[in-house]
Amino acid sequence: MLEKDLTNNVLKKQLYVLDVGATKVDILGVGEDAFYFRYKLPCTNSINNDLADLSDKLAVITKDNATVIISFPGLLQDGVILSWPNKPYWNGYNILDFFKKIFKSSSIFIDDDANLALHYWRYFNDFSGKDMFYINAGTGIGMGIYLGNDIYKGSNGFAGEFGHVCVDMRSKIKCPCGQHGCLQLFSSGKGMLHRYMALPDAKLACLDFKELNDSVELNTFARNIITFGAELLAQQIMNLVILFDITLIFISGSLCLSKLFSQVCLKSINSHPQASVRKVKVIMNGSINASLLGGLVYGCESIQPNDKKYIKDIVTVSQRMIGRV
Ligand SMILES: [Zn+2]
Repeated sequence: MLEKDLTNNVLKKQLYVLDVGATKVDILGVGEDAFYFRYKLPCTNSINNDLADLSDKLAVITKDNATVIISFPGLLQDGVILSWPNKPYWNGYNILDFFKKIFKSSSIFIDDDANLALHYWRYFNDFSGKDMFYINAGTGIGMGIYLGNDIYKGSNGFAGEFGHVCVDMRSKIKCPCGQHGCLQLFSSGKGMLHRYMALPDAKLACLDFKELNDSVELNTFARNIITFGAELLAQQIMNLVILFDITLIFISGSLCLSKLFSQVCLKSINSHPQASVRKVKVIMNGSINASLLGGLVYGCESIQPNDKKYIKDIVTVSQRMIGRV
């Protein structure tokens, strides 16, 4: 299949997949309208302003009756955001209704981004009978849990809030979730950036984690903060391994693109005394957006079920298109 084939009635219906993050929305179209772009989500402290901007952007591509899959990182109930600590001023808003109005579609689905990422990894690999974790290490830290041949969601449907596990109850740093000392305050991109900028000796003003990471060769403070964040994440992952005896772990997200973060994290996991005893296998890949691709698989399946080879072709070609942008 060639890239142009994505537009040639490759699916019986138009499909849009949106991966919503705190700072960006990745938007993929497959069908008559085939494209990919990354939209920088504003942070205006007003949900109406944020969404008016997104609404304008989406108006250009809207087609009625498309199938739409939304990958979302916060806690949801019936489309209402119950908690999204990376954008707390969105809490209480019905985000599903917002997208329904935009796309005027009855085939619109919203799911947790980490669970969609797990769907992607499982769809193309034979992990039958294996329990596994998926961890997204980016602006925040998300997690999907696969136990007993099913996604594990918990009694309230809120399982996998790994970034909000408390790692230092005496910490003075308060998380937007209300706790003190959450993991993502130390090990997420946003958390490490904030820790650096709060240092009295921070010599360099960094706008984002990438700038902080780019400075590590000459910036001891940045290097120490990223090294500590990676080691702490590895330690918490190994705590989960010890607790659940799960040996297959996928890690992706923008932090995996940091050579320092990814190397320290992998080394810390692999050198943990329980890693070799339990034969822990870690697959780390920062160059793909597993949540977006998981949404793509889910959408293709809902339009053309039982067509695995065809869906694999669509994902491979879409990945090529995404990689070029
Ligand atoms: Zn928290």
